[in-house]
Amino acid sequence: MTSIQEHVDLLPYNTFKIAAKAKYFATVSTIADLHALLETPVYKHEKHLILGGGSNILFTGDFEGLVIKVDLKGIETVWEDDSTIVLKSGAGEPWHSFVMFCVTNNYGGVENMSLIPGTMGAAPMQNIGAYGVEVKDRIKTVEAIDVSTGEVHLFSNRECEFGYRESVFKHKLKGKYFISSVTLTLTKKNHVLNTSYGAIQQTLDQHNTVPSVKTISDAVIAIRQQKLPDPKVIGNAGSFFKNPTIEQTQYELLKKSYPEIPGYFTENQNVKVPAGWLIEQCGWKGKTLDSIGVHPHQALVLVNYGNGTGEKIWTLAQDILASVKKKFAIDLHPEVNII
Ligand SMILES: Cc1cc2nc3c(=O)[nH]c(=O)nc-3n(C[C@H](O)[C@H](O)[C@H](O)COP(=O)(O)OP(=O)(O)OC[C@H]3O[C@@H](n4cnc5c(N)ncnc54)[C@H](O)[C@@H]3O)c2cc1C
Repeated sequence: MTSIQEHVDLLPYNTFKIAAKAKYFATVSTIADLHALLETPVYKHEKHLILGGGSNILFTGDFEGLVIKVDLKGIETVWEDDSTIVLKSGAGEPWHSFVMFCVTNNYGGVENMSLIPGTMGAAPMQNIGAYGVEVKDRIKTVEAIDVSTGEVHLFSNRECEFGYRESVFKHKLKGKYFISSVTLTLTKKNHVLNTSYGAIQQTLDQHNTVPSVKTISDAVIAIRQQKLPDPKVIGNAGSFFKNPTIEQTQYELLKKSYPEIPGYFTENQNVKVPAGWLIEQCGWKGKTLDSIGVHPHQALVLVNYGNGTGEKIWTLAQDILASVKKKFAIDLHPEVNII
């Protein structure tokens, strides 16, 4: 049975490198561990937070409850034929390790999402995505445990209600389920490769390579290493805000004042505007305030250069929200979970 520790420093457990403390902390490595934990007085009387790799979380203070660290490991084949394989991965498996497992075996479908930090269990939470691909396109089912009853529930892809950085687990079912494993469908041949993002094709051209599961993964890794700050070096949680979607009429009005405003039409004829561009236009890119700031190359990424607190980062985020609202009348929403 897993032990419950007290007053645990959360700094090693969040990529923003915030020095918050957890009143209680327990690591869950098996489903039996979780069931046992659900029976403890600490679980019954304290609020709880399920924690994966802490790469999409901002602690704005100490966590006065129980942090449940997910550590269920293992990747197994559920089914396969000549062209398709279905893999089940434990929720605590690092996402990038799973991608590397697929790339090494030439299983296609997740290569564009190489090097996204965090765990498998958190991937469906916000329907992670990068370079034109989202995890919802690969997820078959999500196994989750109802933390009030201990019952196991298998969610179909449809039941997960995936959207852009959204799922049912972030809304209606927030805090109600512990995701224990995720089952994904990958291709073994006739891969549907996605090089629609210019940077991928450019990188392939530079290296004179043809698209494959491996070369796309290598290209994505190279691009990400160039573009994004490594959380091991500078504390951050990737994109702090989601890209907002506005109505076409508002976009056209804005285009009159800002002819260079970028925008991408969505399926329902609204327009998605890059939040990074809006933030940059408000003069935030590269701003540093004490030990926190906005990354000099990526305005969407807020950073902790050293001893920054979550409270300060959240204040900065709110100032950014207010200035974008004032200049463009657009509401930005955090992608990061504010705790
Ligand atoms: C440098 C950097 C780059 C990034 N790039 C991308 C990107 O390209 N695309 C993208 O989509 N994201 C990106 N992210 C964000 C982040 O990597 C993902 O959101 C990731 O899925 C978070 O995983 P995690 O295990 O760290 O989750 P955590 O931060 O630990 O948790 C996130 C949320 O999920 C909940 N949760 C975690 N595990 C479980 C579980 N097993 N059951 C129930 N709830 C759970 C938590 O309670 C919390 O609400 C980036 C982050 C960084 C630092």
